[in-house]
Amino acid sequence: MNKTVLVTGASGFIAGHCILDLLNAGYNVRGTVRDLSRAPAIRETLARHNARAADIEFVTADLMDADSWREAVTGCDGVYHVASPVPVIQPKNPDEVIVPAREGTLNLLGAAREAGIQRVVLTSSTASVFSNSRESGVFTGSDWTDLTKKDLSPYIRSKTVAERAAWDFVEGGGPELAVVNPGLVMGPALESDYGSSLEVLVKLLRGDFPFLPRLGFECVDVRDVASLHRLALETPEAVGQRFLCANGFWWLKDIAQALKADFPAFRISSREMPDFLVRVASLFIKEIEQFADDVGRVKKVDNAPARSIGWQPRDIEVAIRDGAQSLIDLGIVKAG
Ligand code: NAP
Repeated sequence: MNKTVLVTGASGFIAGHCILDLLNAGYNVRGTVRDLSRAPAIRETLARHNARAADIEFVTADLMDADSWREAVTGCDGVYHVASPVPVIQPKNPDEVIVPAREGTLNLLGAAREAGIQRVVLTSSTASVFSNSRESGVFTGSDWTDLTKKDLSPYIRSKTVAERAAWDFVEGGGPELAVVNPGLVMGPALESDYGSSLEVLVKLLRGDFPFLPRLGFECVDVRDVASLHRLALETPEAVGQRFLCANGFWWLKDIAQALKADFPAFRISSREMPDFLVRVASLFIKEIEQFADDVGRVKKVDNAPARSIGWQPRDIEVAIRDGAQSLIDLGIVKAG
């Protein structure tokens, strides 16, 4: 195969796995980074998993710089737009994440249209699906986060605004668009700068939570997020679809119990704390502020559209175990 896919935000957790998946499938990859001096380290990390990483081409691009995207897309056959701000702690000024998420998506799509790129796969999130008047149940691609809700976190708002902007943009013509909306992404970290989503596993393994909030997440393995991007790129029927990308609803307590069973040397608490205390704690602990609204709620996703294009995700036990093992192997967490 002699096709090149542009992967934006090549330094990130999901993008790294997307690049490996594309290389394994025989594609050439061009990755964007904000700072080109990071390219050798990214290549070295990926080369531990695929010898073809030596051939990855890196280019510089910033979400806010429209010109940088024109150069980045030139000569590519398809694009994964993965880059977006993913803050662990929500900024006081929501525009710090909303503006780059939206403008970056529009800059990328504008450049893709000019260059005649056939298809863009956008990495969105269940964040753009779950926050509406429904408090529980099975959500589908027809569900949207309600932007008129006042208490949306900046991140949730940024993902919703950016995805909406993308769908509006392609109403005016090409490129084709398919969107992947992952839930909580686990699975193996490739490097010690592991991004923000494995923070849940890190905190549980470090015993940072003596009591757990009654929070649950639709979860998915990062390797399956990557394979769904490729199916969304390659499958004709994927155009115009939102693929909710998760394979099971897990309470934090159940994630903790799975870790305890697989890693008995770690002191992991699986005791839950009353819901009212979580809401009080969320006023003081910034990391849980963004989840306070979802305490006790069971929000599941319908992944049938993804399965209908051939997606076969791993069990979440594997995502938890391989994610935790990678954090141990990288020296990020230690038993005792
Ligand atoms: P990550 O590791 O933090 O990666 C984010 C990437 O975006 C990094 O490469 C970062 O580059 C890049 N980026 C941020 N601001 C940028 C800017 N102004 N210009 C250019 N690049 C910029 O996060 P991730 O977990 O892999 O997330 C990747 C995507 O998946 C995001 O769109 C996120 O919303 C989505 N997602 C993630 C999860 C999850 O659980 N992880 C769930 C659903 C959706 P730098 O390295 O230069 O900062």
